[in-house]
Amino acid sequence: MTPAANRFPALTGHPVFATLPETVFETMSRLARQHDAINLGQGFPDGQGPDDVRAAAARALDSVSNQYPPMMGLPSLRTAIAAHYRHHQGLDLDPEREVMVTSGATEALAGALMALIRPGDEVVLFEPMYDAYLPLVRRAGGVPRFVTLKPPHFRIEEAALAEAFSERTRIVLLNNPLNPSATVFGLDDLALLAAFCRRFDAVAICDEVWEHVIFDGRRHLPLIALPGMRERTVKIGSAGKIFSLTGWKVGFVMAAEPLMRVLSRAHQFLTFTTPPNLQEAVAYGLAKDDRYFEDIRTGLARSRDRLAAGLSEIGFTVLPSAGTYFLTVDIAGLAADDVAFCRRIVSEHGVAAIPVSAFYEGGSVRNLARFCFAKTDATLDAAVERLAGLFRVG
Ligand code: PMP
Ligand code: GLN
Repeated sequence: MTPAANRFPALTGHPVFATLPETVFETMSRLARQHDAINLGQGFPDGQGPDDVRAAAARALDSVSNQYPPMMGLPSLRTAIAAHYRHHQGLDLDPEREVMVTSGATEALAGALMALIRPGDEVVLFEPMYDAYLPLVRRAGGVPRFVTLKPPHFRIEEAALAEAFSERTRIVLLNNPLNPSATVFGLDDLALLAAFCRRFDAVAICDEVWEHVIFDGRRHLPLIALPGMRERTVKIGSAGKIFSLTGWKVGFVMAAEPLMRVLSRAHQFLTFTTPPNLQEAVAYGLAKDDRYFEDIRTGLARSRDRLAAGLSEIGFTVLPSAGTYFLTVDIAGLAADDVAFCRRIVSEHGVAAIPVSAFYEGGSVRNLARFCFAKTDATLDAAVERLAGLFRVG
């Protein structure tokens, strides 16, 4: 129990949040500021994001109402979301009944977990998992069942699913593409998972915030498009990732009407709505042509390759990155574990990274560190130059 929980009896009734440590992203960004380090930890791009999308938000401050927008989102944005996913992923979504705007994917996740978990329900989670998942599942009364994905391939295996699923499974929470391992799950993995969802009558919450950030000609496959999944999948997206504007916190949720009705009940009491000028600008951005999204992917893939080459050259073993802003390196032999490694490089070498054990409940993987490559060439090169000191003898 934390000291605060001892002083305030009201806090002792909420063990999940009262006993949580600070999120690793905040900790590493603070250490980066303290040590004047290059921050390749928390995932955010260098720069201001696309000029035209920001200009659309600035214009909309004057041209649209700044009072409460509709609870489900501006009609212009919901229509743009449905059109965007029809064009990019072949989905057929009714903008009025099957699309909702949230304050970031984080609100969408929290709302979905609160709305759909009954205390005691089992929730299947894939490790490594984004750090918000487990506390939210526990706070909603869910009982986590872990499927541990192992480096270097992080593939979903049937035997692991068979162990995790049971008659009490109600929810499966998948992140595809997967942060932090940068894995993109394709048809084989998703078909296997879909078969388990159907067999155990489970609802899938699929966090697809990285759906546009995939490389080397891959195409994102939304779980909701698989046979039997249309009625049992909650698909979550984030404009922050699509447009490199992580501070905007404009998220979207897509689900069949019976699920959406329940999700909207959580949303109405969590945030109710999201700033209207940002919604209008995201509607503008989602309608941009294919070339725009392709250019973002190409630029990020180039940055990935630059950082991967730089890190390999100085002596790191770099794992493959098929999507997201991230790549991971094996730090075995360089420090006692990933936490020690990340503390050492931020304080002694001036580069911040994220220890991947933060994404494993049991800490079963402790030899990986995650770097964000969504940065300028100069930033990436400077980081590599600083890290080269790790391998210099004497
Ligand atoms: N899910 C995953 C897997 C993420 O990586 C992130 C943020 N990087 C989020 C959710 C949160 O998205 P948002 O900022 O839109 O709340
Ligand atoms: N999702 C971002 C990452 O993985 C961090 C988000 C946050 O700081 N809460 O780096």
